Amino acid sequence: MTTIFDKIISREIPADIVYEDDLVLAFKDIAPKAPVHYLIIPKQPIATLNDANTEHQALLGHMMLTAAQLAKQSGVAEGGYRVQMNCNPDGGQVVYHIHLHMMGGKAFSA
Ligand code: AMP
Repeated sequence: MTTIFDKIISREIPADIVYEDDLVLAFKDIAPKAPVHYLIIPKQPIATLNDANTEHQALLGHMMLTAAQLAKQSGVAEGGYRVQMNCNPDGGQVVYHIHLHMMGGKAFSA
């Protein structure tokens, strides 16, 4: 299933891209929930975390490390930030192409 994130990867629709490499793309969330709110997505479409398997282990790790790198680059690492992946309707997932939210620049409550 094609999602809006596939169209961002293919540049069919614009996004404020902050990082790209062979495996992942990161861009600003269009409706930020924090002063810094980036989405880190794999270029390979995986609909939900339930669809990931051991073949995706390195990719998922790379997404996490990219989130940490972007937190440092955007100046929120020391204060702290939240990394979140939503899965399926009860998890609040809206776009069915896995993505990490990296949010910082404000204090979240537990
Ligand atoms: P989720 O609820 O985890 O599926 O989150 C999807 C996220 O994608 C939301 O935070 C949206 O604001 C964000 N989003 C949807 N469309 C776009 C877009 N075109 N550019 C950037 N972020 C988007």
